[in-house]
Amino acid sequence: MGARVLAQPYARRDGALWCEGVPLEAIAAAVGTPAYVYSANALRERYRALDAALAGVPHRIHYSLKANSSRGLLEVLRAQGCRADVVSGGELMRARRAGFAPEEIIFGGVGKTRAEIRAGIAAGVLLVNVESGAELAIVEEEAKSLGVCARIAFRVNPEVYVANAHEFIATGSRGHKFGIPWGDVPAVAARALASPHVELAGLDMHVGSQLTSLEPYEDGVARLAQLARDLQRQGASLRFFDVGGGLPARYDAEEPPDLARFAAIVVPVAASLGLELIVEPGRFVVAESGSLLTRVLYRKPSGGTDFLICDAGMSELLRPSHYDAYHAIEAVRPRGGTSTVDVVGPICETGDFLARDRVMDDAAPGDLLAVRTTGAYGYVMALTYNTRPRSPEVLVDGARWAVITRRETLDDLVRLEAATLEWTEG
Ligand SMILES: *Cc1c(COP(=O)(O)O)cnc(C)c1O
Repeated sequence: MGARVLAQPYARRDGALWCEGVPLEAIAAAVGTPAYVYSANALRERYRALDAALAGVPHRIHYSLKANSSRGLLEVLRAQGCRADVVSGGELMRARRAGFAPEEIIFGGVGKTRAEIRAGIAAGVLLVNVESGAELAIVEEEAKSLGVCARIAFRVNPEVYVANAHEFIATGSRGHKFGIPWGDVPAVAARALASPHVELAGLDMHVGSQLTSLEPYEDGVARLAQLARDLQRQGASLRFFDVGGGLPARYDAEEPPDLARFAAIVVPVAASLGLELIVEPGRFVVAESGSLLTRVLYRKPSGGTDFLICDAGMSELLRPSHYDAYHAIEAVRPRGGTSTVDVVGPICETGDFLARDRVMDDAAPGDLLAVRTTGAYGYVMALTYNTRPRSPEVLVDGARWAVITRRETLDDLVRLEAATLEWTEG
């Protein structure tokens, strides 16, 4: 398979931007703005392309819910044969609600509580990924008390160098909080192999996100494979070789992810070890399917900067201010010409921006903008800061669309607050 060109779910018809067979203007008119829109066929296509690329070895694709955990999306992916990767008891609940069977779920996460670990073991998830010796001890105690042998994998920190990632999205280098530190693995493994309460069934790594270079996979896979051989020699009956997530999305002019090269790195290694390959993609599956629709409220020149003040900002999409991330922004119906602007939201923070010093379609108050490639780490990171209800989410499938998450109401936002106080004597 060559570097396969993945289809573009958003295209222009008669000058206006559509998602699949639906004009974005129609969705904005019906549900208001801000609103997230996702292409169902983009999700299906991503899943199928990765599945086809890995065809050379028995494999499982466990979609990482933390990129976007909305039920409507999960159901589309599950119908394709996709499985789930969760990092909290809350995501475990969402995966189960969307119909994933326990044995289709991997439960990872660096800070699982005892209650979350117990819930995962009791549900019978495929693997509980263990990230330290201390966590292993809790898994053993909970498995013992439940009267079961818990199937676990070790998430190890392969301590590889991850170049050109934002420092907040590199996770598999020496000194990161994630995974069992490389040097601790032999001692933790000896403990697991001697325990009657756990079965060490797999090895896992996750070196980072938006890996535009495949080198960290190459280095990490080599280290993980060496570890698998050592453990097999010590009597571990491993079944799974999990290379984590991190496949990139195309935000700008990046090369599309080279699935053939990725497969050429991971497939032969899993095959030679006789293990089933697991991948945990998040961003790759959902990022490009999504757009955030926002309307321009004001255009305000101030101190030499031309601000487009929109009804979406950091509360809807945190990535620009948190990671300095780039998102392309287009007018849904361009009026012609371009200008250099800062696209900002209504939040009372100077860090509230979607783009700075950006040359883009000229826009005026009332115009509808599409902030592109926002399917991953968009809605899930939404804030209610400044008492702003969260946006609705809309799924487009061919010429149809449906609201998969309704707009939050002001009542929803204050629902947890006590109106009268029940004091407890301390
Ligand atoms: C976040 C995460 C993923 C998914 O990462 P992407 O970069 O979105 O593919 C996979 N595995 C684990 C353990 C994660 O924490």
